Amino acid sequence: DAFIVKVSRAKALNAFIVETPDHALAAARAADEAVARGDALKPLAGVPIGMKDLFATKGVQTTAASHMLEGFKPVYESTVSQRLFDAGAGMLGKLNLDQFAMGSSNETSYFGNVISPWRRGGGDNAPLAPGGSSGGSSSAVSARLCPGATGTDTGGSIRQPAAFTGISGIKPTYGRCSRWGIVAFASSLDQAGPMARDVRDCAILLEAMAGHDAKDSTSLNLPVPKWEENLSADLRGKRVGVPAEYLVDGMPSEIAALWQQGIDWVKDAGAEVVEVSLPHTKYALPTYYIIAPAEASSNLARYDGVRYGLRELAEGANLQEMYAATRAAGFGAEVQRRILIGTYVLSAGFYDAYFTKAQRVRALIARDFDNAWSQCDLLLTPTAPSAAFALGEKQADPIAMYLNDVFTVPASLAGLPAMSVPGGLDKDGLPLGLQIIGRPLDEQGVLNAGLAIE
Ligand code: GLN
Repeated sequence: DAFIVKVSRAKALNAFIVETPDHALAAARAADEAVARGDALKPLAGVPIGMKDLFATKGVQTTAASHMLEGFKPVYESTVSQRLFDAGAGMLGKLNLDQFAMGSSNETSYFGNVISPWRRGGGDNAPLAPGGSSGGSSSAVSARLCPGATGTDTGGSIRQPAAFTGISGIKPTYGRCSRWGIVAFASSLDQAGPMARDVRDCAILLEAMAGHDAKDSTSLNLPVPKWEENLSADLRGKRVGVPAEYLVDGMPSEIAALWQQGIDWVKDAGAEVVEVSLPHTKYALPTYYIIAPAEASSNLARYDGVRYGLRELAEGANLQEMYAATRAAGFGAEVQRRILIGTYVLSAGFYDAYFTKAQRVRALIARDFDNAWSQCDLLLTPTAPSAAFALGEKQADPIAMYLNDVFTVPASLAGLPAMSVPGGLDKDGLPLGLQIIGRPLDEQGVLNAGLAIE
């Protein structure tokens, strides 16, 4: 009965694109059998997780929430999902997302928006965005439909939806998790990571997901640390930096207060708090919104109506017409906007002015962080400049939507591990998130600070 209630709640939230209860049941049975035999249990034995529908899952529809890939059933499994299954987890289904992971509200999905399980108090019952692009993941975990889910984060897509729905999520260092079998958005930024109820669950899931993979040339050839075993909320001896530039104009007072609360919490846990400067922060958003669309326009060239996915072929149409008709029908408005921006900034006449310059600024942003690490071990910031907004509120204004990523994109551009943990509630009772950013490979430090805050 509980399962049926959960499935109907899942339908109301539109968190899943495809449900795969048999997969989860098989994992649960395997765990039961292991118990009966007296075998040692695998780390995720029988745990039912949700899989963002950006991970290729063998024989199970994988759409990236697009019409382009509707009905596409991969013949192989992504490395990250395979690792989770090898650790004993089962899959409840494929979770909704922004189309090709482009968005901050889950409203660009071809399969309809996801609804956050949260509502504002005080009679305002407007349905709220669960954040994006991993909005199905955040909504499902927050509604307790599953104890954990996979997410991917290119410019904040794990951290911002986690913040909007009162859960935790970590984007590890670029290269920790294999990108093999994840539908590519912006390859120099894309990273997988877990979303879960608390920091400990994130540590357990990340340990299963991470690790070297020869099939991804950017995968780091390093052992996976024992993050869960080494969790500690004792921050004595740690210096936590507060970057002055994140105090942006017009920051709502509640976000500023949340940030101060976080500062007090890490001090209580023994950390020393220092002010630091990341002078190129203001260029992070424009840099990201050049580099990510540029890479996306190249990655999405593969959807040509020939190799896989949708094909729109009118009677008598030539090849060019088939490409155009397929891509016009298969890609949603936001994806088309990114392809237009991306091809523009990569075009011969504008390449140096936009793309090359953005690459240079990206290096400066990374250098800001390198300089900060001489003064501190971790950075603490708000995750997003607002609590969850209402569905539809920012849909007509892409710039307003992009601005929501202001605090998450810098760590993505620098490839750094970063996490969002719940920090408290705003005046309407909605969750707000705090972000911890760490040195390259210091997921442990990030998780520990998260544990001290949650
Ligand atoms: N909101 C950002 C974008 O639309 C980030 C998305 C992501 O991290 N996948 O590009």
